[in-house]
Amino acid sequence: MKFEQLNLIEPLLRAVQAEGYDEPTPIQQQGIPHVLAGKDLIGCAQTGTGKTAAFALPILQRLVAANRNRQGGVIRALVLSPTRELASQIGDSFAAYGRHTRLKHAVIFGGVGQQPQVEAVRRGVDILVATPGRLLDLMNQGYVRLDTVEIFVLDEADRMLDMGFIHDVRRIIRALPAKRQTLLFSATMPEAIQELARAILTNPVYVEVTPQATTVEKIDQSVFFVEKRDKRALLEHVLRDTAIRRVLVFTRTKHGANKLVQQLDRANIQAEAIHGNKSQSARERALGNFRSGRTRVLVATDIAARGIDVEGVTHVINYDLPNEPESYVHRIGRTARAGASGVAWSFCDSDERAYLRDIEKLIRLRVPVVADHPYASPQAMPAPQPNGQANGHPRGANPQTGSARRDGRKPSRRQWHGDRRNGNG
Ligand code: AMP
Repeated sequence: MKFEQLNLIEPLLRAVQAEGYDEPTPIQQQGIPHVLAGKDLIGCAQTGTGKTAAFALPILQRLVAANRNRQGGVIRALVLSPTRELASQIGDSFAAYGRHTRLKHAVIFGGVGQQPQVEAVRRGVDILVATPGRLLDLMNQGYVRLDTVEIFVLDEADRMLDMGFIHDVRRIIRALPAKRQTLLFSATMPEAIQELARAILTNPVYVEVTPQATTVEKIDQSVFFVEKRDKRALLEHVLRDTAIRRVLVFTRTKHGANKLVQQLDRANIQAEAIHGNKSQSARERALGNFRSGRTRVLVATDIAARGIDVEGVTHVINYDLPNEPESYVHRIGRTARAGASGVAWSFCDSDERAYLRDIEKLIRLRVPVVADHPYASPQAMPAPQPNGQANGHPRGANPQTGSARRDGRKPSRRQWHGDRRNGNG
């Protein structure tokens, strides 16, 4: 299916093309027509499925279409997000997809000064993306009014609940006009979310997509505790193993990806980078070289790696751990394609241990530790916990053997997310 078939207007199609999207993801294919038609919608989808565009594109289109008889500057769409990271990503998405429209957006969240946010709202925005706490603050101070909102999106509803924002969310919903379009997205649909959905949606369409990468258990995962400054040397060390025929290395930033390629180059390890700052043709060239085997090491950022489907990726290396645990699943899912088994190694420095904990909770596996490597760092290693739950399953120098073990513990969603982010609403 093509984006053109979704009846999106030309300015949006152009923006989507500039993003390098070839075709709509399943949640976009299934969701966009309903949202364009003005229906309420429940989307059961995780981050990484393309759900942001699934609501942002049709919202932009509906606001553009109905723009003529409206005065500008009043808030017409509100997107509530549980975390500031997600809120700013959503803001970036509206900026990217809406770049050929004249619609304005602003993002507001806690933990930073409110003045720039107040001024942005005062200048006039069509779309407001917000975390609940800060939004309520600004509403209570009289800076934000929601009585003109036509479309309301509650994103990551289950996480809102887990983070204890439900009362704030309900208070915000009470300030919205009763006549509105409502979209609710949630990765899971526990009873509490279903109940909320019944209360705030009218005859919703239900769309569910499964995450693309659910193959974690087939992948042989290990973690190397290492100081940040030693990561490059460790990478060069492990890349000496010729069993690593085709390896995808993930960095958190575009800059990090470029730097790493240069450093590998100096060590005579030929590598190429693929990320959002590269032109479409440069990305395709790098990918082509990687596919054909001319390039053994492809360094990528999460966004650039979306949609990369290369057969025979033997290894995925998380040079930086992702701060979104879902990204880990997507990254390592690039190996072990089509029934093949793959290997995923993660380099974890002392600042990244919390990310590792989040990942282990999400995948419900303890990732075995490679303790015996030349850059092993006792400082980066977590201290064993009294309950024996610390990540302390050492494993030998050959990480290819053995596999990640289930730890038998089934943490609740609250535990999964409750300790991850807080205080940024
Ligand atoms: P989301 O689930 O909204 O967080 O999106 C995950 C990632 O997928 C984002 O980096 C988007 O830029 C990217 N993305 C969204 N839609 C598409 C598409 N149709 N094709 C390729 N990538 C996409």
